[in-house]
Amino acid sequence: MGTKIICKWCKKEIEQQSELIVTNSKMLLRPYHKKCFDTYSEKKKREALFFDAIPLNSTYSNWMTVIFLLLLASFYLFLDVPRVAYILCAIFPIYRLLSFLLFEIRAPRM
Ligand SMILES: [Zn+2]
Repeated sequence: MGTKIICKWCKKEIEQQSELIVTNSKMLLRPYHKKCFDTYSEKKKREALFFDAIPLNSTYSNWMTVIFLLLLASFYLFLDVPRVAYILCAIFPIYRLLSFLLFEIRAPRM
């Protein structure tokens, strides 16, 4: 089904949506196997104190997206904020959407 999704860590195909973790690293979306992401994030944690790659296709990210969208809505309706605030709040929902369109939709559910 469509193009194969290749894990950035082990270079093998990700065959199921349940195995897929999409994360943003250095502004790019990257797909990993669940177990590869664990290995990768453990390694990264040891290398740097600050580790900012969070899985985008997770419950946590879905809640973050909802919160940012609510913020955007309240800016629009109630507050007069600079345009940059809109852009900053839109980044996360856009990443979430791209993760869905570029990877999650292509991984077969089993
Ligand atoms: Zn992998």
